[in-house]
Amino acid sequence: MSLQQRISLLFTAISAGILLVFMLIVYFSANQNRKVEFYEILQKEAITKVNLLLETRLDARTLQTIYRENREILYEVEVAIYNEDYELLYHDAVDIDFVKETPDMFGRIESEQIIKFVQDKWQVIGQLVTLEGKQYFVTAAAFDAYGYRNLENLRNTMLFSFALGLAIIYLIGWYFSQKALAPIRGMISEAQKISASNLDLRLQVPKHRDELGVLAETFNEMLERLEKSFDSQKQFVSYISHELRTPLSVIIAELELSQNKKRSKDEYRETIELVLADAKKLAKLSSTLLDFAKAGYDKSEINFKAMRVDEILLDASQELQALNQGYRVDLDFKGEFDEDDITVLGNSYLLAMAFKNLMENACKYSLDQTCRCSISTTKQAVQIAFKDNGVGIEATDMEEIFNPFYRGTNRNISEGTGIGLALVKRIANLHEAQIIVESKKGDGSLFTFILPKYYS
Ligand code: ADP
Repeated sequence: MSLQQRISLLFTAISAGILLVFMLIVYFSANQNRKVEFYEILQKEAITKVNLLLETRLDARTLQTIYRENREILYEVEVAIYNEDYELLYHDAVDIDFVKETPDMFGRIESEQIIKFVQDKWQVIGQLVTLEGKQYFVTAAAFDAYGYRNLENLRNTMLFSFALGLAIIYLIGWYFSQKALAPIRGMISEAQKISASNLDLRLQVPKHRDELGVLAETFNEMLERLEKSFDSQKQFVSYISHELRTPLSVIIAELELSQNKKRSKDEYRETIELVLADAKKLAKLSSTLLDFAKAGYDKSEINFKAMRVDEILLDASQELQALNQGYRVDLDFKGEFDEDDITVLGNSYLLAMAFKNLMENACKYSLDQTCRCSISTTKQAVQIAFKDNGVGIEATDMEEIFNPFYRGTNRNISEGTGIGLALVKRIANLHEAQIIVESKKGDGSLFTFILPKYYS
């Protein structure tokens, strides 16, 4: 069922409920009024007959005839009059006698003066009338055919209006829900046109800043983000293929060259060395890319634990120095910290990877191949500094160095992929950490990694 149908039906059902309640109130109060009014008529009729019979001394036969003749047409009131001794003085029609007066009934009339009740849809009253010092019991009964007919007419009119009203309400509901949902339909058809190949399309934002306007804007913002991430994915893939292609084509060219011509043993060794170097480059690139992908995970997917920063730094420096014999990492701290002061919440694998990259860069871009690593603390954070006396970074590179595959103007100093700092940045983001770079060309660099402290 469409939203429009659901809205129209709900609207109709609510209106039907309200109408029904009103109709019931009107019907029952009309019935109540009819009943009250008819008792009053009965009362008057009874007194009139008592007066006609006992005061005006009208002939009982005449009264009975009037009753019999009007009974079917006017639903004449059937009256019976008894004296104080419960003896019947007058009855409109003893043979049709509808109300059976019992001693119990006389007793109730005596104590309550007037009683009213309904018997088989006939309304009955019994009352005590005093005339010339004497008391008479008068009962009057009649069927309110006129009142019931009116009530029936009222019911039929109400049922008809109810059905008609519901049909009108449904149509109005349909019309208004269609009008209200029209902009959503527009958005749906516009959104259906958007696919991966035309992510630049946007929804039209309605002029009024209502909920739909906000929805369209939010949707457009989402598209903006999607488009950006799509573009960066595309760029990333093209970077990767470029980075892979270069060493691969060098390997192929080298191998083809040595295949075409017979070479000496030394020349073959040279070729193998060149190919091996390129293959190593490829292996490094692919493992760095793998790390980069891992660091791009959702934070909720990564296992975070409380850990000491100095221990991770020690592990990272040992790993780096084991792989690169010429590199030196001086750790300028020797257990002078309280454990609480240097404990952070993090992923040891990722943090070690970030630290290793910063240490490696410091060694790579400096002649003495040395990184000086120190820890300092503030109230809220642990700051880890990676300092070198190397070539420094050109001011124009500063903004870009954290972008994937970006290599600075000093790239000829050492080989690299341009992924290291992008990886460090991702890891920092995952740990809600900050990285600050201070560097000047020719003056060395200082990278500070600021991690929030862990409070247990
Ligand atoms: P790579 O070192 O593989 O080129 P990175 O992402 O690690 O890639 O670094 C990006 C760029 O930032 C480097 O190409 C280099 O220009 C600059 N850079 C990073 N660290 C240093 C450093 N310690 N000293 C000088 N330049 C650096």
